[in-house]
Amino acid sequence: MKYYSTSKQAPEATLEEAVVKGLAADKGLFMPRSINPLPSTFYAEIVHLSFQEMAYRVADAFFGEDVPAETLKEIVYDTLNFDVPLVPVSPGIYSLELFHGPTLAFKDVGGRFMARLLGYFIRKEGKQQVNVLVATSGDTGSAVANGFLGVEGIHVYVLYPKGKVSEIQEKQFTTLGRNITALEVDGTFDDCQALVKSAFMDAELNAHMQLTSANSINVARFLPQAFYYFYAYAQLQRLQPGVQPVICVPSGNFGNITAGLFGKRMGLPISRFIAANNRNDIFYQYLQTGEYNPRPSVATLANAMDVGNPSNFARVLDLYGHSHDAIATEVSGATYTDEQIAETMRATWQEHHYLLDPHGACGYRALAEGLRTGEVGIFLETAHPAKFKDTVEQIIGAEVAVPAKLQAFMRGTKQSLPMSKEFAQFKAYLMQQ
Ligand SMILES: *Cc1c(COP(=O)(O)O)cnc(C)c1O
Repeated sequence: MKYYSTSKQAPEATLEEAVVKGLAADKGLFMPRSINPLPSTFYAEIVHLSFQEMAYRVADAFFGEDVPAETLKEIVYDTLNFDVPLVPVSPGIYSLELFHGPTLAFKDVGGRFMARLLGYFIRKEGKQQVNVLVATSGDTGSAVANGFLGVEGIHVYVLYPKGKVSEIQEKQFTTLGRNITALEVDGTFDDCQALVKSAFMDAELNAHMQLTSANSINVARFLPQAFYYFYAYAQLQRLQPGVQPVICVPSGNFGNITAGLFGKRMGLPISRFIAANNRNDIFYQYLQTGEYNPRPSVATLANAMDVGNPSNFARVLDLYGHSHDAIATEVSGATYTDEQIAETMRATWQEHHYLLDPHGACGYRALAEGLRTGEVGIFLETAHPAKFKDTVEQIIGAEVAVPAKLQAFMRGTKQSLPMSKEFAQFKAYLMQQ
């Protein structure tokens, strides 16, 4: 499969080039030249397939031309060694719990898959070491670091803002050691992101070491997120045969929902999508007005969705031929304040005994308000509420149990290198590696 750039100014790339480079030379995002629909035989037996087998069939449609079947199967099976259950919350509304992986957030799926695919390309070519730079405000760093832990030929540098991530989040990427280095930047998340961007643009540094990114611009991190949309559909068919669900995705950079839109293109019977935003509602405003106006992000309770210029918007536009009408036909939006997020968490806990995290709360509420008569909805619960323990406890007024996986991270010892937000110091450090 060849990958073109959404900016159309760069030559097409192979899967391997797209994964190793992350971003196209013209700064566009890579898109597969074709999206292969899955055969009707697949849909006929979907309810009988395991999550891993179903995901392998989807992965084969994306990557089958470029990765040998046995290897691809191994990568998929190894990535998805945890469940993604569909849980009823209230009449007509289900939660797809994406938080049963190693770092208890949906980014585990893409992080693990990308690590394994990149590892395969490096082994195959006997390539020099590849270095992954990732700036994080919390969840991305932990999923990427844990996904790449111990993968040979890859070193990961996680840049995070000193004092601005929660203790639980920090422990998830600073306690690992081995091929993971945590850099504690004396600055904000934006400073971390600026350091990473400058590094990708620095010719001397790129001549010294092979650098790549592991956020959702990378096709190997973003496409595997389609897997669980298929599994959500199959689980719903077992409970309510024939229903075509509305799927609601709490969105920030729009990588997750875009993977779902790819699933629909492959024939998955989803009736429509809702993108739930917090107050950073650039996409919601785009749907209302047809105008895309990025603006600086504001801090909210659902902080993984605090994005002022969603990087995957370029993919959404490309997928629908830049037609606002076409996008608005399949995707609607919703936007919620912190007060509404808290209110939703409290009410859902009291009335339905279901504990939402602040991101999932946006998703649940958008369905509760947006479903039409007779529709059935699934929202993606993108993180375990215990990842936001203090916030959640304050809102619901009860204690939140911390899963054993998270407790294990808490027992580890933090190891990180202090780093200035000045690019010169960051570059000097990398030049010595
Ligand atoms: C990353 C993240 C999101 C947003 O996902 P996008 O793919 O960036 O839209 C939502 N919720 C949680 C918990 C996240 O970590």
